[in-house]
Amino acid sequence: MKTFNFKSAANAKEATKLASGRATYLAGGMTLLPAIKLGLAGYSDLINIKKIKGLSGIKVSSKSLRIGSTTTHAQVASSKEVGKSIPSLAILAEGIGDPQVRNRGTIGGSIANNDPAADYPSACLALNATIHTTKRKILADKFFKGMFETDLKKRELIESVEFEVPEKSAYAKFPNPASRYAIVGVYVAKLKKEVRVSVTGVESVVFRCKKLEEALSSNFSPSAIDSVNISSKGFNSDIHASAEYRAHIIKVMAKKAVSSC
Ligand SMILES: Cc1cc2nc3c(=O)[nH]c(=O)nc-3n(C[C@H](O)[C@H](O)[C@H](O)COP(=O)(O)OP(=O)(O)OC[C@H]3O[C@@H](n4cnc5c(N)ncnc54)[C@H](O)[C@@H]3O)c2cc1C
Repeated sequence: MKTFNFKSAANAKEATKLASGRATYLAGGMTLLPAIKLGLAGYSDLINIKKIKGLSGIKVSSKSLRIGSTTTHAQVASSKEVGKSIPSLAILAEGIGDPQVRNRGTIGGSIANNDPAADYPSACLALNATIHTTKRKILADKFFKGMFETDLKKRELIESVEFEVPEKSAYAKFPNPASRYAIVGVYVAKLKKEVRVSVTGVESVVFRCKKLEEALSSNFSPSAIDSVNISSKGFNSDIHASAEYRAHIIKVMAKKAVSSC
């Protein structure tokens, strides 16, 4: 269905009230509108959440960085607070799509959509993020369930994403040259208590790479990655890259990320 009612919510409570039946939230529209135009999705009502003031903005403390769900990729990329506390996150945002996408697309829309090749889900996993919704707090480890599938329930609205401020971190992406989505993206973070490594673009959903985490926990240096054996079993194989190539590129991107930490 390409016809729908367009409603703007003034606050989160009103948005969740409006989102009944076959309604859905509209943030930047960068994924939702093409899906509707292509006939891949249809809704009775689109609930615009971009006018809700409390959902946008960036707050930083010594331990965490909290980004409102409707904050755009361009705002994250250019934020002084993000650049100072988690520069790798600003670099990730700067590498998303093109200027048009970065000026419309939002962090909440990106993680709610959970595209298997999206960048932000890898940041959420590596930086031990907590997703704050209108109902609860969800750890990133439990949030990303499968291809385009998250732990969000019907009408549950993401309000903000809270990242742990790491000691060191970096994101390295081998992008699709047309869309800039990740063919392989690796996010490496040395947190206070652990090292986390997440991988996007490679399976049906973003995942943590335990082998790389173990290797880097004992020696946080590019050379520690040399002896890690990454199996290509279950990896995506498509016109852009075979499963074996993706397995190889994971190590290349991981080394690049650790080198730039
Ligand atoms: C040409 C192109 C290139 C792109 N390249 C990249 C890339 O390189 N890397 C990358 O990571 N992404 C890329 N994207 C995706 C883009 O970055 C957007 O983040 C993404 O499309 C969704 O964000 P949005 O704000 O536009 O969400 P929308 O399209 O408005 O919504 C997407 C989905 O999320 C739901 N939703 C939105 N906000 C919330 C919320 N607060 N709570 C609950 N549900 C919500 C909507 O109901 C909908 O189901 C690209 C997109 C395009 C069109």
